[in-house]
Amino acid sequence: MSDRNPGRLAGQRALVAGANSGIGAAVARGLAMSGAKVVINYVVDEPAALKLVNEIEKSGGQAMAIHADVSNEADVQTMFAQMIETWGSIDILVNNAGIQRDAPFLDMTLSQWNKVMDVNLVGQFLCTREAAREFARRGVVPELSCAAGKVICMSSVHEVIPWAGHVNYAASKGGVMMFMQSVAQELAHQKIRVNGIAPGAIRTPINRSAWETPEAEASLLKLIPYERVGDPADIAKAVVWLASDESDYVTGTTLFVDGGMTLYPGFREGG
Ligand code: NAD
Repeated sequence: MSDRNPGRLAGQRALVAGANSGIGAAVARGLAMSGAKVVINYVVDEPAALKLVNEIEKSGGQAMAIHADVSNEADVQTMFAQMIETWGSIDILVNNAGIQRDAPFLDMTLSQWNKVMDVNLVGQFLCTREAAREFARRGVVPELSCAAGKVICMSSVHEVIPWAGHVNYAASKGGVMMFMQSVAQELAHQKIRVNGIAPGAIRTPINRSAWETPEAEASLLKLIPYERVGDPADIAKAVVWLASDESDYVTGTTLFVDGGMTLYPGFREGG
């Protein structure tokens, strides 16, 4: 991502859940290049989290890595306490951590169902609640932002596109949409903005099998009218916009960043 603009989020403090990989890492870089200090949350792969902290610091930004499983209440509370103790508060939360545990529906185990709900939905609840408590306690700081705080929930095009073989994942992302809208409705009067981003197919480890061979990529591209697989930086740019005052009148909205995947591409020739 080339859009370096350290004034845009200057002085703001962000936490990105699951920032050691893929979209989360790109989002952390994007926020840092816009002037925010960034917590790189990770649950696995500490070396990757520390490498990203180092990279951000080398380019003049500020970051720290904090270990926490977002589905564990005590971990999440300890992480927020550490961040607030170190940097004084939080201004931006990016609920990015997410997993897939795919299985045909008839074979799906309760453990596969629960694991996906725990990370993708419970994790967003626990992190958003901690961030919102701090936003509400502190209120608006006009020198930093028009809003008391911003939450960006990483959803998916599967908050609206049903997905056979991935029922747990699609149900969790549908849940993220209604979670995001309901919290946005409840907290708007406290000047807390809550929005979602629905990525289409972005080239990251979570969906490697969908793009790693030329055959798989060709099949994937049939679903994308814009005819390219997305890059994590495409999502980072949208996050920076939703975190900034440029989107100050936007709350309770999902921004689809999907190259047109939700435009029913099958109807270009059919129907
Ligand atoms: P990824 O696998 O690279 O990243 C997921 C991150 O979440 C990793 O850092 C992982 O360690 C972290 N994580 C998993 N469980 C966690 C836990 N319990 N606590 C803390 N962190 C945890 O994949 P990605 O594509 O970068 O996915 C990021 C988000 O984007 C996910 O919410 C995913 O559902 C969403 N998304 C991705 C795509 C895509 O095409 N890549 C499309 C739509 C939505």
